[in-house]
Amino acid sequence: TLPPTDLLVRLFHEEQPRVFDAMPVRFGCSCSESKVRQSLSIYSARDIEKMTTDDGRVTADCQFCGAHYDLDPKSVGFEAEGQSDG
Ligand SMILES: [Zn+2]
Repeated sequence: TLPPTDLLVRLFHEEQPRVFDAMPVRFGCSCSESKVRQSLSIYSARDIEKMTTDDGRVTADCQFCGAHYDLDPKSVGFEAEGQSDG
């Protein structure tokens, strides 16, 4: 059997394949509550109000990892009250 690199070169020698060093792959999504807050920070209090559920929460689901974020509408958007971390 051939090492994958040699096999690749044999198959695609005309294409001059480049083989990158192996990189460790970690399962995981880089989403976080602060990123959700950051993405919501472009909205005004009025927009946030439209996103607020009947329960009085702003929720967001990550489409990659399925994480669910449940935020206080008062704490998101650029008009947020008492933002601690900017
Ligand atoms: Zn995620």
